[in-house]
Formats: sequence, C-alpha cells, structure tokens
Amino acid sequence: MELGDNRKTSNRLREFATTLFESTGGVVESVEDDLIEVLLPKELEERFGTDFLIALDPEIVPEVPSAQLLNYGSALLDDLIAFTEEQGTVSRVYLTGIHLDDSRIKQNLKRTLRFEGSDIQIRRIKVKLFKYLLFTFKIRYTTDEREEEFISVGVNMENGQIARRLINVVSDPGRYSQENYLICPEAESISVYQAYGIAQKEVERKMIASINYHKTAMEKVIHQESTRISKFYQDNDTELQQRIEKENVRRETHVDWTADEHRKSEARIQTLLSKRQVNEIERKRRLKEMLDKYTLRTNVRLINLLEIAYPKMVNTVAVVENGDKKSAGESLRVTTTIIWDPVTQSPEPLICSKCLKLTTTLKLVRPSKDDTQLVCGKC
Ligand SMILES: [Zn+2]
Repeated sequence: MELGDNRKTSNRLREFATTLFESTGGVVESVEDDLIEVLLPKELEERFGTDFLIALDPEIVPEVPSAQLLNYGSALLDDLIAFTEEQGTVSRVYLTGIHLDDSRIKQNLKRTLRFEGSDIQIRRIKVKLFKYLLFTFKIRYTTDEREEEFISVGVNMENGQIARRLINVVSDPGRYSQENYLICPEAESISVYQAYGIAQKEVERKMIASINYHKTAMEKVIHQESTRISKFYQDNDTELQQRIEKENVRRETHVDWTADEHRKSEARIQTLLSKRQVNEIERKRRLKEMLDKYTLRTNVRLINLLEIAYPKMVNTVAVVENGDKKSAGESLRVTTTIIWDPVTQSPEPLICSKCLKLTTTLKLVRPSKDDTQLVCGKC
C-alpha cells in the first residue's frame, strides 16, 4: 500500500518536472527508474546547471551523488514552483460582467441554503478576489493507432474543489479580460502544485471510460490475433513432429541400413529438432510483437494553464436559533462565513463541522460541554 503511494507520488513529481522542463524547451530522459536527466536550453543551464539529474527516490541519492532529490518538502520542488511562477507561463484573465449586489443578500443566501430551526443575520460583507486554475491536458491513447483527447479541469484555488461550471463560462471569450477592473484583496489560495495534483487525479478519473473502451476493443483484437498466431505455429510444429516420427519409423524398418545411412538419418532428425526450436522462438517473438503493438499506452501532458480570477462576496453571517420563548441569551448561535458567487448566482455550500461534507442544509447543535456547531441535516 505504502509502496504504491510512493510510486504514485514519484510519478506525479516526474510528470510535473517533465511538463515544466519540456514547456521551456528542455528534453527529459529517463536514466533509470526514479532517475531522470534534464537537458536544458542554454539560458537555463546557469540556474540548474549542466547535466541536471533529478532523483525521485531518496535511496538513489547515495548512489548518484550528483543527482538532486525531488520529493515533497525538497528544496528542488520549491525551486521548481518558484520557477514556474517566474516563467509567467500561466496567463491570467479576469471575468467581466460581474454584478456584486448586496441589497438582497440575506434572501439570496436563504434561497439555496436551508437553516433548520434558525435564521441568519448578515454581520459584514467583504469583496475578495478568488482564483481558479484551468488545466488543459492532452491525452494520447496509443495502440496500433493513435487517438488524442483534450480534457480541461478547473480547480478552485481557495478550497481545492473541482469547478465544473467554470469551463462553460470561460469558453466564451466575451466573458473575460486581461485587465482587472475591480481591485480587491485576494482570497487565500492553495499552491499551484497542490492544484496540479488535484487536476491530475480528476483527469485520471475522467480517463477511465476511454481507457476501458480502448482496452475492451484491444482485448478482442489480441484474443483473435493470439489464436491466429498460436494456430499457425502449432500447425508448423505438428508437421515437424510428424516428419521426425516418419524418420524414426524408417530407421526402425530399414534394418539393412549402412552406418553412413544411419548417420544421415540422425542428421535429418537433428535438423528437424532445431527447426522445432526455431519455430517455438518465432512463436514467442510474434506473440510479444503483437502484444506490444496492441497494448494500450496512455500519455498525459499538460498543454495549457489559465488562471481565472473574479470577485465574490464574503459574508460574515450569524446563524441564530429560532425560539420565541427563550431569551436572546439562551438561544444557540454560530458565526460563520458564507461566500456568494456572482457567476453562479448562488452561495457556495458550507462544510458540516461534524462529517466535513459539503451541505446546503444546516442546523445548530450543542454537544455537551462543547461549543455550538453548525452541522448538516444528516448529522
Ligand atoms: Zn454532517
């Protein structure tokens, strides 16, 4: 289990480094498992050195002391991320036509979010700039034929969630601009690298259907081809065996043969035996060749990265328990943050404090001794 996770991590880091260096004109080659060599364009040699070796497994470093380790928390990973940002390969756009209207914010929030047994009071509204990263991957499926597919994945940089609706919005160039018309503080963000990991997992998930489709089609072809190949070499072998048997029968029946005739017969049998061996070697070679040809290989490459930013309203909201009989001091209350998204014209779901799932139904509870919590309808 742990080994599998390490492998996934090192694959992810390998792809990250490959994508990064190839996008700057470098060439990345595998020296061995978990050791890659990067041939850099002249202008980058100064920064990373010539003969730049990257180890993806700490155990390689003692064996290859000139290699630099790339794993979580390594100085090299920080350096690569800083480098990506300097490169400016990420282009940034701002959504336009955003209306930030707070006049009916309370009703608007309550239209989508249900507060069971309680009501809300808006305490404060701030406008903040929220960022998304839109990753576009090119996926190549190779068997005896080549097929390509593009998959775009948007990641909300504030919470790391997949932003499905955003792709439709940014497919319309009239909806964004290079210029930011509404200057406001930025909301907190996860790192580009974290977002890359999230996007990659989503791509893998989306690829499953295509992979299964190709695999099923290829399994059929492989089955037919291997039957055909096996039959061909089996027939050859049967024929050779029959000839050997015939030769043996001749030797047994011809008691009058001279020593020379026996030697010649023996030689013929030896030739037929070596032909059988060659036939077997050929059968294996043809099968392997056929499997190599029809086995599905996938290749995923990040080809474009777009940062999309737009402002949202960050509302500080008090959720207060209903109850006429209780005095204000006794009723349960929690202060929370609810984000209003002007693009979807809806509030973002909240996270249940108990099960940590996203929810649009909320209620107040007070576990004994603990502070009051805002939980989902099921908790
Ligand atoms: Zn819950």
